[in-house]
Amino acid sequence: MTKQHKAVALISGGLDSMLAVRVLQEQGIEVEGINFYTGFCVEGHTHAIRNKDKNKQKRNNALWAAEQLGIKLHIVDVIEEYKDVLLNPKHGYGANMNPCLDCKIFMVSKAVQWVKENHKNGFDFIVTGEVIGQRPMSQRKDTMPVVANESGADDILLRPLCAKNLPLTKPEIEGWVDREKLYDFSGRNRKPQMALAEQFGFVDYASPAGGCCFLTDKNYSDKLVDLWKGRGAREYEMDDIMLLKVGRHIRPKPQFKLIIARDAGETNFLEGYRKQFISIQAISHNGPLALIDGEFKQEDIEQAAGIVARYGQGRDADQVKLTITMPDQSAQTIAVSPLSTEQVLEEWHV
Ligand code: SF4
Repeated sequence: MTKQHKAVALISGGLDSMLAVRVLQEQGIEVEGINFYTGFCVEGHTHAIRNKDKNKQKRNNALWAAEQLGIKLHIVDVIEEYKDVLLNPKHGYGANMNPCLDCKIFMVSKAVQWVKENHKNGFDFIVTGEVIGQRPMSQRKDTMPVVANESGADDILLRPLCAKNLPLTKPEIEGWVDREKLYDFSGRNRKPQMALAEQFGFVDYASPAGGCCFLTDKNYSDKLVDLWKGRGAREYEMDDIMLLKVGRHIRPKPQFKLIIARDAGETNFLEGYRKQFISIQAISHNGPLALIDGEFKQEDIEQAAGIVARYGQGRDADQVKLTITMPDQSAQTIAVSPLSTEQVLEEWHV
């Protein structure tokens, strides 16, 4: 009896990984998916927070893609290990704080490790939806072999969408997959992927060209760098990176910043942090909840309250009354004049 060959595929939730899996399924390969959670992934939960996004679909795209493909998905938390990838990328950063090449090497090496740890399940090779020339850093002709080599995957890493443009891999040499039925996609043109999606009957899939994480986003990256500058150290915890996805970030003094909710959804979300942070909210007018992150002194209260007042319905009032609540829930009330928009936006907006 011929052996049923098995592959594990890196699933981001985007179209390319879906296509790569389906190409192999068509050749009779049994595929399972693996998704690495770094904390920076662009996923439905941020849509679930903001009011303006309430009509957007709230789903975990990796889970959804796995369901469409009928495969098992293993979600692996790599938050702690990923810190070293982000803080010390050997190959540097892309346009923003995205260490794409190191990230890809890391994820494929984690898949190699996972295959070894699950050897009794008999996985033969690793699959990604990478396409040569698709991404400026990790998916170039000269960097794709770097991913295979430095991850330790070597010839058990198969990229079905562009395999014909790459050297032969073990699954092809051994005849587990038919190279002729793999593809030679290259470049940033998405039309071949769209056509294949249509052929496979995929009609609904996550934004085809979208980056897989917040680190490719300039605003997010600026806030991350500002966080490190404010703390005097390049370090972060899970709450920090979650809070960078939420609210306006205003830094009136180097040692502290305000995170001000942009709508009722974000106010609700920030409510959950009131026992970890000092918070400020207007009581004389409707207004957003704001958290204070960093070292905050009594002498900073008036300035911070003036900024928060500017974002509520009392922005044009002479005086706005606000409550400052400590993490132990003791509180004080202050009345201030809202600060001007120009000052807040031009001088302190992160
Ligand atoms: S976009 Fe983010 S998750 Fe994707 S390879 Fe780059 S750093 Fe990694």
